[in-house]
Amino acid sequence: MSVTTAHETDVLRRQDPQLAEILLGELSRQSTTLQLIAAENFTSPAVLTALGSPLANKYAEGYPGARHHGGCEIVDVAERLAIDRATALFGAEHANVQPHSGSSAVLAAYAALLRPGDTVLALGLAYGGHLTHGSPANFSGRWFDFVGYGVDAETGLIDHDQVRTLARAHRPKAIVCGSIAYPRHMDYAFFREVADEVGAYLIADAAHPIGLVAGGAAPNPVPYADIVCATTHKVLRGPRGGMVLCGAELAGRVDRAVFPFTQGGAQMHTIAAKAVAFGEAATPAFAAYAHQVVANARVLAARLAAEGLAVTTGGTDTHLITADPTPLGVDGRTARGRLAAAGLVMDCCALPHGDSRGLRLGTAAVTTQGMGEPEMEQIGALMARVLRAETDSAGTREEVRELTGRFPPYPG
Ligand SMILES: *Cc1c(COP(=O)(O)O)cnc(C)c1O
Repeated sequence: MSVTTAHETDVLRRQDPQLAEILLGELSRQSTTLQLIAAENFTSPAVLTALGSPLANKYAEGYPGARHHGGCEIVDVAERLAIDRATALFGAEHANVQPHSGSSAVLAAYAALLRPGDTVLALGLAYGGHLTHGSPANFSGRWFDFVGYGVDAETGLIDHDQVRTLARAHRPKAIVCGSIAYPRHMDYAFFREVADEVGAYLIADAAHPIGLVAGGAAPNPVPYADIVCATTHKVLRGPRGGMVLCGAELAGRVDRAVFPFTQGGAQMHTIAAKAVAFGEAATPAFAAYAHQVVANARVLAARLAAEGLAVTTGGTDTHLITADPTPLGVDGRTARGRLAAAGLVMDCCALPHGDSRGLRLGTAAVTTQGMGEPEMEQIGALMARVLRAETDSAGTREEVRELTGRFPPYPG
């Protein structure tokens, strides 16, 4: 892979030993601790090669065949390939592969459909909505009038009755379905029905599950939503970036919303890496991977529940698990710190009942490493021991090292 081959590392080490040290240190951290952050993954060496390629040098404002710069004939082919692979993979009429991130994709979706001051209905931030779903600290909360729906405090499931009631009362211009922490499938048909009833656009922010969709392990929002926003770096396992999928009738508005409205020159190295990732995601091996991600998450969730954690919604349909560790006598923030010290890296998140922080974790990265159900049992047991403070972190760190040593993310 580009930054870690012996030769390239030698070049960097000679020219900039300080940076070489940082790159190798991070590779070592990723290889010797467990990456359980639900939004993270290990891209392939092919994706890293595209990212580290001379395409990074190319300026390419505009779209293939209609650029503001010369010399785009080769990068045009890369972007067309990325678009064709994305539309084929997700069954979409149109794809824009230029958004620099998931947030940029959401910004473009709003820019394509909304005007400042419009009302938008989205999952509230306290229930797993993303910053771009109306946080006062984000452009979305400043420029639009967000109304938040929630989840049932008991079941943790999206309160569909409330969604319908709020939609009827507020007549939003758009409804957003998508979350950073919801472990179950979204009922896209339900959201479509409500959007139709009140004359709203439906925006699916599928940043998390889009990789499962690619592998046939989660329902596809494309047939239901007017616009689907996504990231390319979560379960999908591509480069850090975003994309927008839509029907032919919104294609022009979406493209103008990305460039020139909200972005400048496209990052052609990232777009080439997205094309590589879409190609990988279309293989039977990736479909097997996506199903294994879910199988692993189910086993890990069940183990955590058996160990006494309160697993939100009682389990998961996806790669993502949220759980309250307080039954083991430790709050979410303390839990995250204690687990990190033991080499198990994950996040905190809001919980449905709202009075404490929980743990949020996912199985995308460990599954890429080749881990299966037995390793999930081991990780669940390890987490419980750490949370109950039954082992010192040095002992757990050693067990984590042994486990990651058997499943290196980048062998060799
Ligand atoms: C990850 C995520 C985003 C943002 O992606 P970035 O690349 O971090 O900007 C947006 N929405 C949802 C639901 C997400 O999970």
